[in-house]
Amino acid sequence: MAKIKTEPLTGKIRVPSIEPGATAHYRANPAKPEHNEALGFPGEKIANWEVKAIEKMGEILDTNRAFRVYMDICVRCGACADKCHYFLGTKDPNNMPVARQELIRKVYRRYFTIGGKYFPEQADACDLTEDVLDEWYNYFHQCSQCRRCSVYCPYGIDTAEVSMVARDIMDSIGVGQKYCNEILGKVLNEGNNLGLAKNALANTLEFFEEDVEEETGVAVKYPMDMKGADVLLIPPSADFFSSPHVDGFIGYGKVFHEAGVSWTVSSYASEFANFGMFIGDNETMKKVAMRIREAALELGVKRIVVGECGHAWRVAYSFWNTLIGPFDFLDPKYKTPTHMCEFTLDLINRGAIKIDKSANDDLVVTFHDSCNVARGSGMGNKPGGQFDVPRDVIKAVCNNFVEMDEETIREVTFCCGGGGGLLTDELLDLRVKGASPRAEALHDVMERKGVNTMAMICAICKAQFTKVLPNYGIGMDMVASVHQLVSNAVVLGGKKGV
Ligand code: SF4
Ligand code: SF4
Repeated sequence: MAKIKTEPLTGKIRVPSIEPGATAHYRANPAKPEHNEALGFPGEKIANWEVKAIEKMGEILDTNRAFRVYMDICVRCGACADKCHYFLGTKDPNNMPVARQELIRKVYRRYFTIGGKYFPEQADACDLTEDVLDEWYNYFHQCSQCRRCSVYCPYGIDTAEVSMVARDIMDSIGVGQKYCNEILGKVLNEGNNLGLAKNALANTLEFFEEDVEEETGVAVKYPMDMKGADVLLIPPSADFFSSPHVDGFIGYGKVFHEAGVSWTVSSYASEFANFGMFIGDNETMKKVAMRIREAALELGVKRIVVGECGHAWRVAYSFWNTLIGPFDFLDPKYKTPTHMCEFTLDLINRGAIKIDKSANDDLVVTFHDSCNVARGSGMGNKPGGQFDVPRDVIKAVCNNFVEMDEETIREVTFCCGGGGGLLTDELLDLRVKGASPRAEALHDVMERKGVNTMAMICAICKAQFTKVLPNYGIGMDMVASVHQLVSNAVVLGGKKGV
């Protein structure tokens, strides 16, 4: 694939001059009828779509109070305008969060406010036309739902939520996006985003066992569908097939082995990702998550531990209890859900696994906070645990850790540019440009501190960065799973038992 032209990195994030319409033509591939129908949506755009779309917006306004408030309270102060990575990378003013919201707010005013009904021009309101729907489709698929803008909004308006609503309305009239809807169909039919069948999964796990034994001489097991195991591990399915994801998965297995904890993955629910959130459809999100509850019940496990996936951690941490709880069939000693980083850090802190930090001495590591973890979840027992727990794991297994610019980490972290259902090839130009703020911050610590590894706990971030960083002259081997670093450092046969 041809390299996408990028500006040379300087280590500084600049606010660009605007270029109206710069990305108006960026268009995510539309879903085919079978992708939409698999989720219960109309296969194609329905005949009376304008009427139905406005009816759907009315239903959402009645049930989603946050959305109604967001439609009414923006004062157009502009505090969010330069906070979106897609605006910074593309210069298109419609990628300013306030402008993105206005695409739907103008229609809201037209149909749901008195001023907009009777004096549309004065109220800056507009009809829902074919052109407006096209703009919605294009620009609401240029929002990765990262929530960075909401941190800076004095009213806490969450553009991610607005973008989810827009996608929900479009799905309801048969205007779905292929990448998300096709993948969701695969999860519901096959149990994972990749459509990986049970046999293929079993072969992959067997291959991991052979590989680890050949490399270390230790027979670490990677079990599937083992009834009565203590832990059900739910990874993102990317962990089964490509680097650096698999290196993290191999690390999970080594940690369980050393802790002497029996564990298993499930062939029925082998996927932690939940794109139901990206399309704003709670029913689909619930169906995807429900498979995990069913698998845990079927296998009779005591606890659920989840792998490195950012948006899925948000779904689990923030919504599982409502969607698929209560978890009264699990051992109440353990928190549900537990993140693999929490599990590993607890073992390290208790001295239950032995670590040789020098195994990572060739690495100077920085950490990329993934947006859905940073701004949509927590971790551990203290506020801010979602920032500290993964860092504590890294610092426990590496001697050389460096932070990137504080304006680009923790709660104000920049998105990788591929989240929110945008990790698809036809949007590669957008993805490369949207990654520019993170590439700048990374370049800065590469130059000043010799950083050669950027660790992360999100499957989408890993897939996105390995693909786009080479466009900035940064090798894909810069990207690492946090549990890949753990895998390097954990001493097999060093210490056993929880
Ligand atoms: S949620 Fe993220 S991607 Fe969407 S407008 Fe805000 S900053 Fe941009
Ligand atoms: S910061 Fe909030 S109130 Fe200000 S323009 Fe942006 S969304 Fe509107």
